[in-house]
Amino acid sequence: MISVDNLTVRFGPSTAVDDVSFTVAEGESFGLVGESGSGKSTILRTMVGLNRHWTGKITINGQDARTTRQRDLARTVQMVFQDPYGSLHPRYTIGQQIAEPMRINKLPDPFGRTGELLELIGLDPSFQFRFPHELSGGQRQRVAIARALSLNPRILLLDEPTSALDVSIQAEILNLLNRLRRELGLTFVIVSHDLAVVSYMCERLMVMRNAKTVETLTREQLRSGDLADAYSRELVAAS
Ligand code: ADP
Ligand code: MG
Repeated sequence: MISVDNLTVRFGPSTAVDDVSFTVAEGESFGLVGESGSGKSTILRTMVGLNRHWTGKITINGQDARTTRQRDLARTVQMVFQDPYGSLHPRYTIGQQIAEPMRINKLPDPFGRTGELLELIGLDPSFQFRFPHELSGGQRQRVAIARALSLNPRILLLDEPTSALDVSIQAEILNLLNRLRRELGLTFVIVSHDLAVVSYMCERLMVMRNAKTVETLTREQLRSGDLADAYSRELVAAS
């Protein structure tokens, strides 16, 4: 479903992602871990067309990310950000915000589909008439997920999707994401600094440091501590 080959991303003189490669199978959940500034978010942003200056090759469900229009790519891959406060507009209703991508893409019946999406993510359809400030953090993140699903994507890129939330709410959102992956056959790439989250959510993961891949592991290797690299062992020990 995803193939990233020799991706390098530079911002001026600094290299944010240095020759990184990985693949993700259809229906798989793949984790990206590593210290702050190691290039994880830059990889996700590049995959959805938010960075211009990169080299390498990115193929998403058979589409070349370099030549596919961003609007077409958005029907296949959507991103969910860490901060559910920042990602929703304070002055628009929940319904307007979930329906917006459907309107832009001229999908039929955005209003009816908004109600369905709210039910899918575990909120009453009447939530569409509310404003973001009337929702809790967890409810807002559910809404951000509903909006990301509005164009029926095959892939969700989740950038620290629960790290802004209380611990009790984190588990609810992770379980929601697991259910959605199963029910909708989605493919996930999840960035998290929390190895417990990655161990719970992902079949495989890649450890990054200073823009480079340190190693790629299976969940079993992570859980058993069977790590080849000293930095990965340090990271696991620290968490
Ligand atoms: P992570 O998500 O692993 O914390 P990022 O991908 O956000 O790391 O950042 C990787 C590096 O790229 C950092 O040094 C960061 O400062 C830099 N960087 C990220 N985005 C930009 C940008 N738009 N302009 C300049 N530098 C950036
Ligand atoms: Mg980041």
